[in-house]
Amino acid sequence: MTAKKTTNSKQSFAGDRIIRSEGAMIAGIMEGSPDAVGVAVIRLDCGCRKMAAVAEDGEPASKVIIYRDGAESVCDKCKEDNGTFPRVTKAFIDWQETELTDSQKKDIELKVLGNQPPVQ
Ligand SMILES: [Zn+2]
Repeated sequence: MTAKKTTNSKQSFAGDRIIRSEGAMIAGIMEGSPDAVGVAVIRLDCGCRKMAAVAEDGEPASKVIIYRDGAESVCDKCKEDNGTFPRVTKAFIDWQETELTDSQKKDIELKVLGNQPPVQ
């Protein structure tokens, strides 16, 4: 099989079947969300992830995307419960806007992520 190789890292979300890494997803979300200062990343115990761009005021700057690495759809569990909170293993914000102060970041984190699950 001769797959076209391209070094262009830009990928469209529409219909691509390329294995998407977390980093590529974050870059894609940022690209589509001009108001975003970062991307909230929520990892679930099943291996799926939820992500959403976050604006400076702590409001969502994109819709929530749920996906699974290397798969075209999320797992059956997530289809059922849509990645419910008790299954969150890690939640954080990947900051893209570095001009924010630590306290601004803290405020946004609290607003977006709420109570974080205990770090193991
Ligand atoms: Zn899942």
